[in-house]
Amino acid sequence: MFINIHTHRQIYDAKIELVNHNPESTEKSNFYSYGLHPWHLQKEDVLWQLDNLRRVSGEKKCLAIGECGLDKVCPVDFELQTEVFEEQIRLANAIQKPLIIHCVKAFNELINCLNMNDNNVPVIIHGFNNNENIAKTLSDQGYSFSFGKALLSYDSNASKVIRKTGRKRLFLETDDSDVSIKYVYKKASELLGIDEEILKEQIKANFENLFQVRV
Ligand SMILES: [Zn+2]
Repeated sequence: MFINIHTHRQIYDAKIELVNHNPESTEKSNFYSYGLHPWHLQKEDVLWQLDNLRRVSGEKKCLAIGECGLDKVCPVDFELQTEVFEEQIRLANAIQKPLIIHCVKAFNELINCLNMNDNNVPVIIHGFNNNENIAKTLSDQGYSFSFGKALLSYDSNASKVIRKTGRKRLFLETDDSDVSIKYVYKKASELLGIDEEILKEQIKANFENLFQVRV
């Protein structure tokens, strides 16, 4: 079975698609995640958005909080990003659901925020496409990695580090791209040098283990 750990719309291309829930759309997919993305934060809206998140995140089909995190390249005030991210870490820990992380050029701050808030829920770094040193630092913290379309570009960081991050911490995704998850699996199995069926079994086991569900 194919599992897409992070997509922005349900496309029925995988048995399980963890759809990043959009509050504007009323339709909720089978499984979804919900979080406040650092790109879209506006100070005046944050309080009601967090209230909304607290309500939605308690639902059974909401498997994770996110995507949320820190982004030093986007223009949103970094202090506001940090405050809102910390709220989401505390919420995830209060309800014991994993975090799906968006992080750009702020990995040290990310680790600090998580550790300062005594995070003990699983962390998945989504769309990972950074170098081996960063991968090692995150790996040492026990985080998992989700790789997406960057695997398809020859010579990308993702296509090099996927062999080093460990199969037990591995997930695959399409994010907001039009690439089929099936193609991402195919590419990942080539890069890892393993049969695609073995890869599917591994990711299924990883999914069940991390989200504490049977699929
Ligand atoms: Zn995304």
